[in-house]
Amino acid sequence: DKPIIRIANACKYFGTLKALDNVSLEVSQGEKVVIIGPSGSGKSTLLRAINQLETIDSGELVVDGDNICDPDVNINAVRMELGMVFQSFNLFPHKSVLDNLTLAPRKLRKTPKAEAEAYAMKLLAKVGIEDKAGQYPAQLSGGQQQRVAIARALAMNPKIMLFDEPTSALDPEMIGEVLDVMVKLAKEGMTMVVVTHEMGFAKEVADRVVFMDHGQILEVGTPQHFFENP
Ligand code: ADP
Ligand code: ADP
Repeated sequence: DKPIIRIANACKYFGTLKALDNVSLEVSQGEKVVIIGPSGSGKSTLLRAINQLETIDSGELVVDGDNICDPDVNINAVRMELGMVFQSFNLFPHKSVLDNLTLAPRKLRKTPKAEAEAYAMKLLAKVGIEDKAGQYPAQLSGGQQQRVAIARALAMNPKIMLFDEPTSALDPEMIGEVLDVMVKLAKEGMTMVVVTHEMGFAKEVADRVVFMDHGQILEVGTPQHFFENP
């Protein structure tokens, strides 16, 4: 059973700072991996490397069978298999919620407009905001915007969803509504790599928890291992 993500001995420097220090991690299809660790430990860099927003300086990165470091691999095709959700929702501010969801499928997958819109409405219903389809991001609460961002990532039908501190910018009362959507996705079998400080989510959803510090993976284990040992 081949892993859907395989990172081997990845190193990433920013100048002399080693943001990733010999990181190795495999994620299997359907697995939920939660990455924890102090600020600046390299969690975001690791996610961004998986999604090609950063290139690693050495090591190996294989996503869905494609070796990213191979110059013949079509990076854009690989990227389409990955949905990413950021701390700051990163929606297109001048597009309606519906258009935020249909833009990439129409442009990159050439999905016909009606089909893209029908699927977008299904996804908006799934994240509980189908009544906001015609609104603009600024008219929505943070929790609603983040749910739109999740729906937008799902609109491309990714095989893997990456979450980089998806609730860290939210008012406390909105965290639950975003985590609920993530739990739902997890239960549907989505492969997920999640950087979060929400230990309740990690406990409930993670198959494995990865602890990073100073660019290194220091420990990998089950949530029980991390949260229930004395
Ligand atoms: P985390 O997500 O765990 O908070 P990051 O991956 O964001 O950590 O950052 C790891 C280290 O790399 C930090 O010291 C951060 O300041 C540094 N870093 C991240 N991105 C850049 C960049 N583009 N340029 C320079 N340093 C960076
Ligand atoms: P997030 O918290 O959403 O991961 P960050 O604020 O950590 O976002 O980083 C936002 C951007 O700034 C990223 O492109 C990251 O690579 C870059 N960055 C982070 N730390 C540094 C740094 N010390 N120097 C330069 N760029 C950085």
